[in-house]
Amino acid sequence: MLPEGQHFLMNLNMIQIFKFGGASVKDASAVKNVASILKAYAQTPTIVVISAMGKTTNHLEKLVNAYFYKEGNAAALLEELKQVHLQILKELIPDTSHAVYNDFENVFVEMQWAIEDEPAFGYNQEYDQIVGLGEVLATKIISAYLNTQSISNTWIDARGIIQTDNTYREGKVDYDLSQTLVDTQLLPQFGSTKILITQGFIGGTSENFMTTLGREGSDYTAALLAYFSNAAHVTIWKDVPGVLNADPKYFKNTQKIDELTYQDAIELTYYGASVIHPKTIKPLQNKNIPLYVKSFLKPSESGTVIKDTDKRIGITSYIFKTEQILISIQPKDFSFIAEENLSSIFKQLSRFDVRVNMMQNSAISFSICVDHDEHKIPGLISELQNEYKVLYNAPVELMTIRNYDQNTINKLSENKLVLLEQRSRFTHQMVMKTEI
Ligand code: ASP
Ligand code: MG
Repeated sequence: MLPEGQHFLMNLNMIQIFKFGGASVKDASAVKNVASILKAYAQTPTIVVISAMGKTTNHLEKLVNAYFYKEGNAAALLEELKQVHLQILKELIPDTSHAVYNDFENVFVEMQWAIEDEPAFGYNQEYDQIVGLGEVLATKIISAYLNTQSISNTWIDARGIIQTDNTYREGKVDYDLSQTLVDTQLLPQFGSTKILITQGFIGGTSENFMTTLGREGSDYTAALLAYFSNAAHVTIWKDVPGVLNADPKYFKNTQKIDELTYQDAIELTYYGASVIHPKTIKPLQNKNIPLYVKSFLKPSESGTVIKDTDKRIGITSYIFKTEQILISIQPKDFSFIAEENLSSIFKQLSRFDVRVNMMQNSAISFSICVDHDEHKIPGLISELQNEYKVLYNAPVELMTIRNYDQNTINKLSENKLVLLEQRSRFTHQMVMKTEI
């Protein structure tokens, strides 16, 4: 006979991954909804990846800036965060003698310590040690709550599973080491429970520092865990019915896309469609694991499936990015932009950790459209100015249309000044400014 606990191990090919983002755990009633989804849909071994609650990560970023750049009152921001979480915890687990209140205090003690001393490391490293705790906090609360609701589960520290190098804020995952840890530390936990609760977005280094995988990186964590555990599928539970052809924040009459190829999904996310993190697709595609994007409000609806199909999306999709800056870089002496210049420009971009959303070159100038990050761009520009004449225009918007036609382009550029335009067979991009 099998020893007790072996039961789930027999079904490891039935593992599924669920990912719940910030919006799906933003308050006590949202967490209760997560519990009802798990009750209904977590019948097979399930790894549940959870993000920080609501807008916690933004709040923690403010806190780090307050601490690091002395841009505000870090202690007050911390207290505010604590009260919001405490409120949610009390609503979920009214019994304040429950052990989770201890865990809760400990996370805040850790945060308190982090902001007490003067920064000892660079911004990115300090950032990760503080910002990543949002996920730790959320999972502590949710895991404890689920246990009180007879949804028995084990809390897993992702810092001991997802191993990265020390590229803070953009940790590069060590696949071999993480695979070993999944095999030896994570999967054996299914011997005693059917549900494992862990954090998205965070990892750990060999020196036991916390790293983050880049904003919105919880999707990526879900995909990595799917890859390492050979999961049957991944479901990302969202506040939209699935992958839409445009962001409802900017567009009316959006349409849901029922089925997407990995290729289309990766292109959409590459151009900035924020529905899933761009890094999510590769690990899934590599192991042919389907990804479902479903509504946590209407969990029985079909949502979108992203998988290996040869159906290309026919419908036009729109990706709109605001708060962009268009930078034009020219050699000071009117010489051509040549390979050596480009290579030195890209070195600076990578040094300042700036990702290019669109680029174009002409004889004597090279133009890039990038996110206008107030902490990165001024340094980049002043560095480039040592060697080049640098012109820039901000704020501008970047519109990407997949499966475009001329009518759509005309409509979307109405009353706008188009500063730069580029098209390939399926994709049209415009950098635009609102005319005044
Ligand atoms: N909490 C992190 C963020 O807001 C990670 C995530 O939500 O995926 O960026
Ligand atoms: Mg989020």
